[in-house]
Amino acid sequence: MDFVMDRSALDDLKNAIRTIPDYPAPGIQFRDITTLLGDARAFRRAVDELVQPFAGLKIAKIAGIEARGFILGGAVAHQLSAGFVPVRKKGKLPHETVGMPYSLEYGDDEIEVHRDAVSRGERVLLVDDLVATGGTAEAAVKLLSSLGAEVVAACFIIDLPDLGGADRVRRLGVPVRTLVSFAGH
Ligand code: AMP
Repeated sequence: MDFVMDRSALDDLKNAIRTIPDYPAPGIQFRDITTLLGDARAFRRAVDELVQPFAGLKIAKIAGIEARGFILGGAVAHQLSAGFVPVRKKGKLPHETVGMPYSLEYGDDEIEVHRDAVSRGERVLLVDDLVATGGTAEAAVKLLSSLGAEVVAACFIIDLPDLGGADRVRRLGVPVRTLVSFAGH
């Protein structure tokens, strides 16, 4: 999963991400990818780089985490000729669901997928825009695994390594690919 990306391409991607200080709470540096999504070259480059290690690996489904993981995951699914599975906040999906609770800094939350969204043994790639503490991604890996899917890897545009989320997902035995990283929260 290790790779060397052209430094100037990497800088371009990083520069396409806007940082909003103290949003949504004091002390948080919000990494806003809407600027990257609005930049045709950066969006294409980010999707190409997310996809690159997985071409030819027979990925059956992309699982995208609500909501920014839907935008990236849809594009990644198209590139890999895979299906797309939305991983949503509790109560949003219309058919029979399975859920997985996880802890946030303040309180708890739960993500859900449709029970029939993946089948036993299906090879799934998890996609989101950013991994912070890894709590959301960990819950998604456990949820998909509980349905018998094989989570082949997880990929994110942004890593916040000081929060340890990528390593948390790796400890579940799931390789992680990230494209750019930012220090701090
Ligand atoms: P976590 O479960 O802590 O890894 O948080 C990951 C989720 O929260 C992702 O869906 C991110 O989009 C969002 N998130 C967490 N921290 C930030 C941040 N600093 N900037 C933007 N999004 C964030």
